[in-house]
Amino acid sequence: MTDSVETARTAETGEAAETDRTGSAPAAHRPLAGQKALVTGGSSGIGQAVAIGLAAAGAAVAVNYHGDEDDAAGAVVETIRRDGGEAIAVQADVSDEAAVVAMFAETTSAFGRLDILVANAGIQRDAAIANMTLEEWQAVIGTNLTGQFLCVREAIRCYLAQGVAPLSRARGKIICMSSVHELIPWAGHVNYAASKGGIAQLVKTAAQEVAAQQIRVNGIAPGAIKTGINEQAWSSPEALDKLLKLIPYGRIGEPGDIARTAVWLASDDADYVTGTTIFVDGGMSLYPAFRDNG
Ligand code: NAP
Repeated sequence: MTDSVETARTAETGEAAETDRTGSAPAAHRPLAGQKALVTGGSSGIGQAVAIGLAAAGAAVAVNYHGDEDDAAGAVVETIRRDGGEAIAVQADVSDEAAVVAMFAETTSAFGRLDILVANAGIQRDAAIANMTLEEWQAVIGTNLTGQFLCVREAIRCYLAQGVAPLSRARGKIICMSSVHELIPWAGHVNYAASKGGIAQLVKTAAQEVAAQQIRVNGIAPGAIKTGINEQAWSSPEALDKLLKLIPYGRIGEPGDIARTAVWLASDDADYVTGTTIFVDGGMSLYPAFRDNG
């Protein structure tokens, strides 16, 4: 039994918190101790925060990156290691079936198993529907929806093959990064909204299908989170002012808001949660235009 398994069991039994042998946080604050995670699109924005958050909660993390240049993923790995965690960088284009299979093989070969997938990688290629090219449509569907399907499928295969470990009540956990646009139509972004609408059913259907195997599948639907994907929406005071009119809670989201939700969903505190999507959006999906009587 590894140190981290002992740590996890201490956390589960509720005995007095101990400092684990990595020398960092008390066991009670490391609900994912000993578990192994893969985060796609982990080199920037939300994925970066999720990777660091999972590691701080005790998981070893494979940080997926896309481009040829692995500097950004390498920096995330360094941050995690500097804080006493375990991480590797794994390259893959999530829309490429062979690359996804190879990424899971590389991750399980390095870590021995997988307990948590966060399928986060996503892109936007915006255009009015009348002007949208097939290439723009397929690029977004390929990365956001087909990419999540390929990763979800590979994670399920992996969980079924490896069996249950005494680290978590579930055999495996899957978290799909959706968007408020799985619900809110978004003119000028039909490819993106369609991809996120597809993720809503991917989550529910996969969860229904594998619940009996103790695999939990959930989604997170972020609202406006301050990252590179939407920089034009918050980088000038005028843009930010316009954006805040859509957010009842009165602030733009931070990647950490999503990371904390992912840690909770991956933990045993969420053991009875499957097939649902949590909106982390400061109320953006609450039809804010109706605040003043419509
Ligand atoms: P981001 O900073 O642009 O991050 C997107 C990540 O996806 C990057 O690391 C990118 O890597 C990676 N990626 C893109 N194409 C890929 C591919 N084919 N294979 C593997 N990785 C790929 O944006 P973000 O805001 O963090 O977005 C993360 C997720 O949150 C997306 O699914 C997005 O739709 C969702 N989301 C974001 C917001 C928001 O307000 N920020 C709101 C709702 C939902 P490279 O840089 O190497 O391409």
